[in-house]
Amino acid sequence: MAKRIKAIRGMHDILPEQTGLWQHLENTLSQVLHSYGYGEIRMPVIEVTELFKRSVGEVTDIVEKEMYTFADRNNESLTLRPEGTAGCVRAAEENGLLFNQVQRLWYRGPMFRYERPQKGRYRQFHQLGVETFGMAGPDIDAELILMSARFWHELGISEHLSLQLNSIGTKECRMRYNAALVKFLSERADQLDADSQERLNKNPLRILDSKNPETQALLNEAPVLLDFIDETSRDHLEKLCAILDSNGIRYELNTRLVRGLDYYSKTVFEWVTDALGAQGTVCAGGRYDGLVEQLGGKPTPAVGFAMGMERLILLLENISKPTDMVPVIDLYCIAFGFEEKKAQMVLAEKLRRFCPDAVVITHCGEGSFKNQLKKADKSGARFALVTGEEELKNNTVMLKPLRERSEQKSFSADDLAALAVAISR
Ligand code: ATP
Ligand code: MG
Repeated sequence: MAKRIKAIRGMHDILPEQTGLWQHLENTLSQVLHSYGYGEIRMPVIEVTELFKRSVGEVTDIVEKEMYTFADRNNESLTLRPEGTAGCVRAAEENGLLFNQVQRLWYRGPMFRYERPQKGRYRQFHQLGVETFGMAGPDIDAELILMSARFWHELGISEHLSLQLNSIGTKECRMRYNAALVKFLSERADQLDADSQERLNKNPLRILDSKNPETQALLNEAPVLLDFIDETSRDHLEKLCAILDSNGIRYELNTRLVRGLDYYSKTVFEWVTDALGAQGTVCAGGRYDGLVEQLGGKPTPAVGFAMGMERLILLLENISKPTDMVPVIDLYCIAFGFEEKKAQMVLAEKLRRFCPDAVVITHCGEGSFKNQLKKADKSGARFALVTGEEELKNNTVMLKPLRERSEQKSFSADDLAALAVAISR
């Protein structure tokens, strides 16, 4: 036998029994986005490598070790997108969406990162991202957080998520903070793990979100970023908090929450859960006023966030009963022979048109009458629609309830309205 080909490590098929939950998640999110006036944008999943190097940043985990990069047949270096912000900024700029206007955009789709696969961490995963452009104030930051809170509410997972908030100020105050942090940590470098020692030279801010408990303990004594931020950033944060307070949104100011890149400024936030172990960040966002300019556009204020869809699915699976999402089959159509089948397939078409919400399955393939009835029952359908010799002769059908103990009933094959009432949920 030929050797079976398998999916690539860390990449998964999403099967029909799971797509019900995915569709529920996607529909709920897009409904909320629609109600806040956000427009969907669809970008390619591949971009030139340079885009990510310049936007995500050379000294990040993503660019240093996680990107799927390859040369195409023309020897141009391309990369499967590891995230959506870079492509969204590229697309918005390229299509003239940023000049003199505000934009509220969202996208969703697969992202690719070469990471060690584990629960909640995959090599192909899905994000839904939101990016806004042209708005500099704390009101739009608040809107994004309020909208994400609405997502959780609509999905019924609010109680499992909590909000962490911080301001990382401007580039200048971060540089002053960096110097103070490096000084503090350099004096204690022997207590840092290899990872953090390396970051000390390249990207000291990232040490703040080290997962190592000893490093975290060390940081308790370290200078605090919030003490270094400028007046404008402080005012921005205070107003953001005030809007959140008046909307009853609870948050924790976490002075160690950072984004380690130059183009980020002011607000950063994360929604976290303790229901998913180490992969607890479900949604992460922040303000990136410097990025559009860094990619060659005019200076444009911007703020956005991205959610990990697989992590949301895991959370939803944790809390919902598995039967919640199983699709209901209303009718399973079975017929005695070929003539009966022909007549019944005409009726099934009429019924699907007449009752667009009904799920009507036709038994296809061979099988004795008894066998077909077994299949109908096994399918979980509510009713079997039966066309036998008698029914064909009389232009009728038999409706047989499969889930409750009531009598089967005969209908004229022309009386769609009566059939519709009988199978309505
Ligand atoms: P982490 O610290 O978990 O690696 P990150 O900082 O790399 O996350 P972002 O780049 O901010 O993540 O992406 C936003 C969200 O996308 C994350 O909060 C997470 O929910 C999800 N995500 C990121 N990487 C993966 C992955 N490899 N598999 C599944 N979901 C992911
Ligand atoms: Mg990561």
